[in-house]
Amino acid sequence: MLLSIENLYVKYGNIEALHGVTFHVNEGEIVTLIGANGAGKSTTLTSIMRLPPPEAPRVISGDIKFKGQSILNVEPHDVVAKLNLALAPEGRRIFGNLTVMENLTLATYARKNDPDSEIKRDLARIFDLFPRLAERKNQRSESLSGGEQQMLAVGRAMMTKCDVLLLDEPSMGLAPLLMYEMFRTLKQINQEDGLTIVVVEQNAKVALSLAHRGYVLDTGEIVASGSAEELANDPEVKKAYLGG
Ligand code: ATP
Repeated sequence: MLLSIENLYVKYGNIEALHGVTFHVNEGEIVTLIGANGAGKSTTLTSIMRLPPPEAPRVISGDIKFKGQSILNVEPHDVVAKLNLALAPEGRRIFGNLTVMENLTLATYARKNDPDSEIKRDLARIFDLFPRLAERKNQRSESLSGGEQQMLAVGRAMMTKCDVLLLDEPSMGLAPLLMYEMFRTLKQINQEDGLTIVVVEQNAKVALSLAHRGYVLDTGEIVASGSAEELANDPEVKKAYLGG
């Protein structure tokens, strides 16, 4: 088990966003967490990454284990640098005034001890996976389309040399064709690079077509879990999340 979330409670001030969430991710898997607006999907990912929320202070109880060790006491910057967890956040959060290349190289700041050849190889891999980024490598990132910015957010997360890639709504704002292209590429990254992926999605249909296993999050609780196929055929999940 690579990542395990155990009985996680998260409170923002008086608001409890997660009420005892438990799930796990095995090495090499794609696991999806699906749920409606406000279900607690982003909260789950930002709590794993130990990112501070933008406003109210957050209180976490329960446990988050990575490779069997609790990471609740790990400083947020060490989660990326030392634990090799990376997040492509909701809304992308790329540096708009920097070029594509600058955004990608900035992500390697914690890899000071890695040889240049390794960083160049990883960069070539990103450009191989996302040829649009290669064509636009000297373009300021704010002028990329929404889909291209999403590719950059995924590429940037991969450039940190992560073992687990966490993705917050990669389909958000993408036209259907680009969305399917993105999900095909994520499958390719999982199969060819062996990267473990956790993907949080409102679009349950595409998420379940990509993932091996999934969990359904409803107002801060896991209400269903199983293989992606089981969930896709579950009458309740179908009714609530797959349009009948
Ligand atoms: P969406 O799909 O709309 O992004 P989500 O499933 O990712 O939703 P969260 O963003 O995790 O859900 O929100 C879960 C709950 O926690 C919501 O009720 C939200 O209002 C609350 N919440 C999230 N972030 C904060 C914060 N910084 N301060 C206060 N409450 C918050």
